Amino acid sequence: MNIIVCVKQVPDPDIPPDKFKIDPQAKQVIPPPGVSPVISVFDERAVEAACRLKDKHGAQITVLSMGPGKVTDVVKQAISMGCDDGFVLQDVSFEDTDSYGTAFLLSKAIQKIGQYDLILCGRQAADWDQGQVGSILAEILGIPVITLARDIEVTDGKLRVERVLKDGYEVVEAPMPSVVTVSSELGLPRLSSGMGIITAARKNIPVWTGQDIGADLSQAEPDGPYNEITTFIIPVREAHCEIMAGETTAEAAANMAIKLKELKLL
Ligand SMILES: Cc1cc2nc3c(=O)[nH]c(=O)nc-3n(C[C@H](O)[C@H](O)[C@H](O)COP(=O)(O)OP(=O)(O)OC[C@H]3O[C@@H](n4cnc5c(N)ncnc54)[C@H](O)[C@@H]3O)c2cc1C
Repeated sequence: MNIIVCVKQVPDPDIPPDKFKIDPQAKQVIPPPGVSPVISVFDERAVEAACRLKDKHGAQITVLSMGPGKVTDVVKQAISMGCDDGFVLQDVSFEDTDSYGTAFLLSKAIQKIGQYDLILCGRQAADWDQGQVGSILAEILGIPVITLARDIEVTDGKLRVERVLKDGYEVVEAPMPSVVTVSSELGLPRLSSGMGIITAARKNIPVWTGQDIGADLSQAEPDGPYNEITTFIIPVREAHCEIMAGETTAEAAANMAIKLKELKLL
């Protein structure tokens, strides 16, 4: 079985909030100095799902990631967890993409890889949270998609997926190849093994440009991104504190009750 896992690098969510800075004009996040991006948390689950299938049935797992900078690191992290190979998509023409552009470019790379029985994505990327790329990817490739998986099984060449619902789960089946997006209910991802880290460090990760995959963004969206970011801001959260006055604690409490009533909170 050939599995392709799409993983995205995202800003480390563990950085202190005051280190999170943006450039509102360029509408970009400014990477915090000295802090490397990490693999998106849902994509770690997708890697875990692939590794569980490999443990049970045997599989060749290929990791694919598109992004600027040290995106090779997230591919190597997935390899250290048990994936076999990886490719990076990197080209200045790939920057400023929306979900459709991202899915289009990933689809071109997947077609170049060629062999796939199953494509796994996270349910959503942990930075922009749009949850669109997996479904658009399936549409472009002309194969089924099952979203929000909490368990994936392969029986008689068919996929059997437990899909998270608001109040439980449903079981759905699909032929292969299909795209499946993986949810956090799958359970914790495994840790990298020592041997996995050594294997990943030695692994050569080819970097493909637009020319290598025979596509650039202008082919996907000739008139520019379908979704345009018009404003990019960090919301301001203000908190005001008022100390209730009173000669006694009882009077302060009564004043507070009056205030809460005025504010229609009581
Ligand atoms: C400089 C900059 C400019 C941007 N401009 C726009 C814009 O104009 N309009 C707009 O809509 N968005 C814009 N974006 C947002 C951006 O491109 C989103 O990443 C994109 O829309 C996909 O949405 P998402 O990241 O929420 O992915 P989701 O749809 O939430 O991702 C679901 C899954 O798809 C896979 N996946 C997603 N991205 C990748 C990837 N790069 N490599 C491998 N797998 C991946 C992962 O498995 C992931 O879990 C911009 C981002 C940047 C950094």
